[in-house]
Amino acid sequence: RSKALGRSCFRQFDASMQAEAMLKRQIEHDLRAAIANDELELFYQPIVDVRSHRVNTFEALLRWRHPTRGLVSPEVFIPIAEETGLIVEIGEWVLASACRDAAAWPADIRVAVNFSPVQFRRRDVVAMIERALPAAGLAPDRLEVEVTEAILIRDAEATRIVFERLRRSGVRLSLDDFGSGYSSLSYLNTFPFDKIKIDRAFVIDLSNPKSLAVITAVINLAERLNLSLVVEGVETEKQLEILSSLGVTNFQGFLFSPPRPLAEIDQMIREPFHSHLHEA
Ligand code: C2E
Ligand code: MG
Ligand code: MG
Ligand code: MG
Repeated sequence: RSKALGRSCFRQFDASMQAEAMLKRQIEHDLRAAIANDELELFYQPIVDVRSHRVNTFEALLRWRHPTRGLVSPEVFIPIAEETGLIVEIGEWVLASACRDAAAWPADIRVAVNFSPVQFRRRDVVAMIERALPAAGLAPDRLEVEVTEAILIRDAEATRIVFERLRRSGVRLSLDDFGSGYSSLSYLNTFPFDKIKIDRAFVIDLSNPKSLAVITAVINLAERLNLSLVVEGVETEKQLEILSSLGVTNFQGFLFSPPRPLAEIDQMIREPFHSHLHEA
């Protein structure tokens, strides 16, 4: 009996795995056509400095308008793009588009672009970035390259060389999602980062005294190391108040704005961001 049960469980498991694999293949197939069919689009989310109430950076966040599935989340298609290598072509499109868009913004506003470890494993990643900037007419110091610590774990030495070349050409480097994975404090002084972005997970957990202690230490460390710091995923006035009292000035989160289409950027640049807390 138990054998039969086992077998039917296995069959069910097998069927759902098959369905998932099929969905993945379908997405992969459609993703190959997405660039050519003009289905990819960049949204932009502001990083706001609460001292000036202004945007100082927009993060480019990729969206895919699938003809039948609607808006597909990058959490779904980026991993598939990485597995298949499609991320290389998509990443090039993202960088070119983001640089071109940013070239039209005021010169004191930067653009942040996410890079996958797969892109960084390519020998030509620096050359690719160094081509994209002049092609778009964007000064190198207006581009921030965002990477997660996943990049630092494998091939630390090769990554450091690439980072140093990027830094020499003026591009800025941000460590994204800090605290979400196997974060090591040593990353902060062994790689030439300009900025760290503290992960949303910390913000959710601010009421936990231990979590608060960790985030306070990271904020102090960033200051001592002369690193810019952004906290991601700020959704409430209360979170903003606590983080402001710890000295944080740069925020990204739904409290200020979700990612929005390019067409709405001009308005975000013109209008100051006011939270109740920081109302003059
Ligand atoms: P990320 O780089 O950490 O981007 C921040 C994510 O947090 C975005 O999700 C953004 O919409 C979300 N977010 C911002 N503020 C809040 C908030 O207050 N509350 C909540 N709940 N979420 C907030 P999104 O756009 O879905 O992107 C997810 C991830 O996909 C990104 O995380 C990034 O790792 C990846 N991704 C997006 N675009 C690209 C791209 O062009 N290239 C690569 N390689 N990865 C990308
Ligand atoms: Mg990011
Ligand atoms: Mg992040
Ligand atoms: Mg993330």
